[in-house]
Formats: sequence, structure tokens, C-alpha cells
Amino acid sequence: MRPYILAETNWKTVKETKYEVAVLPWGATEAHNYHMPYATDNYQVDFVAEHAAAYAWEKNAKVIILPCIPFGVNTGQLDISLCMNLNPSTQLAILKDTADVLVRAGIKKFVILNGHGGNHFKQMIRELSFHFPTLFCCNVNWFQVIKQEPYFSDLGDHAGEMETSAMLHIRPDLVKPLSEAGDGAAKKYRIKGFQEGWATSQRAWTKVTKDTGVGNPAEATEDKGKRYLKATIDKLGDFFVEMSNTPADDMYQ
Ligand SMILES: [Zn+2]
Repeated sequence: MRPYILAETNWKTVKETKYEVAVLPWGATEAHNYHMPYATDNYQVDFVAEHAAAYAWEKNAKVIILPCIPFGVNTGQLDISLCMNLNPSTQLAILKDTADVLVRAGIKKFVILNGHGGNHFKQMIRELSFHFPTLFCCNVNWFQVIKQEPYFSDLGDHAGEMETSAMLHIRPDLVKPLSEAGDGAAKKYRIKGFQEGWATSQRAWTKVTKDTGVGNPAEATEDKGKRYLKATIDKLGDFFVEMSNTPADDMYQ
């Protein structure tokens, strides 16, 4: 029974604990090539959140991990069966209700820990600050806490080497043999601005990839996943400690 995991703890503990930071893991339920489970993003973001909170709790940070929101924005995958799309406007509604609960609980710092590339919370945070001026809200994409380059040879962004390595560490029982995975080959935009990244749009997923993957998982190993996750968890844990120790109304120096 971990006091920093809301789903596991109890009213007695919650009543007696002055939590400083609430963390909301947010994933997605979507196809991940042929070899990984639909809830890959949820397993990953929960694993990172729970271990970073354990690390931070050891250093006296008062952080509470809320249950993961398991559906994300999948408007580019509507033609892939059972990709469980949640529209951005629905996400904002969920965030407003969540923020309302946190403010009533006296919590002043709120971290949205994102585990899915289609989720973007930046503008929603601006709107939350309009409705809840006393609540400091921020976003962390867990897969960007540590640069992937030194750890992985193929840097695709969906169901590729990084995610497969991570899942081989977190839930190897849910990963099919790599011989059954597609190669994650992905088409690029014809237009230069999109290729260079300064123009952006939404990818029509089934026009870009055959197996739903973007990035080749062939070189994935459990050891790569373990080392990458450990580095991520330590750095994110330190962030939770800093967030816990810094007053919401004194963020600048
Ligand atoms: Zn994923």
C-alpha cells in the first residue's frame, strides 16, 4: 500500500497527509504495431509515474499519483479499429473537473504526465490557469525527459525501438516475439516544410504506415529499456522533489 498512489491508499492516510503535488498520468489506447498491446502508453506512463514518485517520496516530496486517464487523442487513427479517441475538448473538460477537485483538496501544484504523442496540453494549461488562478499547472512528456539518441539506434516515434524496449522491461509478458512485429516503415510528407518540422499537421496514420508502427523495433532489448527508464525516473523524481519544495506562488528567481 503505497501512500503516494491514490488508487492504493485510503482516507485515513489522505486525511493526514498534506500533499503538495498531484500528478495525472495520461496515456492512450491504440494499436502499437503487431507485437505490443493497445495499452502500451498507459503501462509506460504509469510505470514512470509510480517509480518517480517512489524516488521523490524517499526524499520527503509530498506527491500523489492519480489514476491514469487511459484514452488519448487519436483523431489521426479513426480508421484503425478500436483506437479509443478522446477529443481535445473532452480532455479539457476532464482537466477542469480534476483541477476543481485538487483546489478543494488544497493542492496548489498539478503535473499532467503525458505518455502519448497525440496529446497536447499546452493551450489547455493556459485555459486552466484562467479558471483556477491558484493552481500551478504544467505538462511533462515522459518520453522527452531524457534524450533517446544515446540509448536507441532507431528513433521512430511510435511502437519502435524505444517503446518496445520499455515494454520488454515493464510488461514482457504482453510483448509478442519481435519476429512477429512489422518493420515500422513510415512515409514522409512530400512538402518540405513538414519534413523540416517547422510546418505541422496531423498525420493520416494508415496512409503513413502499414503496421501502425513508426520506427523499427528490431533492435529493441530489455536492457536498453531498463537503462532508459531508470535515467528518466531519476530525473523526473528530482523534478517532483523540486515541485514539492517550491511554493506555487514563488516559482521565479
Ligand atoms: Zn505508444
